[in-house]
Amino acid sequence: MMSRPINFCSGPAALPSAVLQRMHAELPDFADSGLSVMEHSHRDRRIVGLFEETESLLKSLLGLGADYRVLFLPGGATLQFAQVPMNLLGAGGCGAYLTTGAWSEKAIQECRRYGEAVEIASSQASQYTMIPEKSAWHIPDAASYVHLCTNETIHGVEWFGSLSDLELPVVADMSSHLLSREMPVHEFSLVYAGAQKNLGTAGVTVVLIRDDLEMTPQPSTPSLMQYANQMASDSMMNTPPVFPVWVLKLVLDWVLESGGVSAMEARNRRKAELLYTAIDQSALYQNPVASAVRSWMNVPFVLHDESREGVFLKQAEDQGLLNLKGHRSVGGMRASLYNAISEDDVQTLIDFMREFERTSA
Ligand SMILES: *Cc1c(COP(=O)(O)O)cnc(C)c1O
Repeated sequence: MMSRPINFCSGPAALPSAVLQRMHAELPDFADSGLSVMEHSHRDRRIVGLFEETESLLKSLLGLGADYRVLFLPGGATLQFAQVPMNLLGAGGCGAYLTTGAWSEKAIQECRRYGEAVEIASSQASQYTMIPEKSAWHIPDAASYVHLCTNETIHGVEWFGSLSDLELPVVADMSSHLLSREMPVHEFSLVYAGAQKNLGTAGVTVVLIRDDLEMTPQPSTPSLMQYANQMASDSMMNTPPVFPVWVLKLVLDWVLESGGVSAMEARNRRKAELLYTAIDQSALYQNPVASAVRSWMNVPFVLHDESREGVFLKQAEDQGLLNLKGHRSVGGMRASLYNAISEDDVQTLIDFMREFERTSA
């Protein structure tokens, strides 16, 4: 493949070029069937097999056993903001939400449409540059579950703690860092992740559910949105998003061939260290997040001289460094360093940043 620009987008995000090449080669003829993956009935044994293999591969990469199911659902992580309370609130229950950035804010707002939601702690006063200590969370007795977003894609804040001492079911939005490092996924009763960040392409959301999670769907919950129904029909209640599941499978194959999650972790740790060190050592760039909770995947930074941001972005783009603009709600810059971004890619960005600082001083 020709040299491609480096895509630092937060999502839809970069895909590994090995995956793009496989898609290109295998698209017209899926599993020696003569048809592409999009043209088969989802009742075809090849497609059923694709779903089964994708589920078992994801579980083995995450170290999950027979007590977890994997669902492949439409609607993005945003639909999960509704689907979680619709299935888990129960009569008289409430959702207990930790607010650590823009995505967990959206999650609690959506819960309020279906029942009571209580904010157990918030780091808003710090402009979401830290995560409140667990000792400061106020979890109400009526809570049916605790919800957190373990990687805030916009604010660049990541959860590295443990929840093993919580007795309630814990639900997590891991959209922007699932498979980026070894995580204690077994501490969570339900995990969801839109695929277009670190897992593949938009159109499918991965939902992991532990079999001891109690489901209490509200009567008005659409049958398609009841987790129990989707579990019973292996995510095939209606025509499922087969193409994005196929891309997910190719990404999982690539993760496995690249050494699995521990290899991703080693690479991602080095990538994040390189970039944060470069930012901290410079006089021009700054990242506001407390060092213990800085995200490995999403690195927001500002230029001390804001007026140079436009020139920075333009020059970066000219050199093939794309999508470095921060989210419109926080401004500044953001580099997303998902699994598909290599250490060399990060070094290229750092070299550019150093050169920009040197020549524009
Ligand atoms: C992108 C993102 C979402 C929203 O995902 P959609 O698939 O667009 O609904 C939710 N949570 C987090 C953490 C995200 O990064």
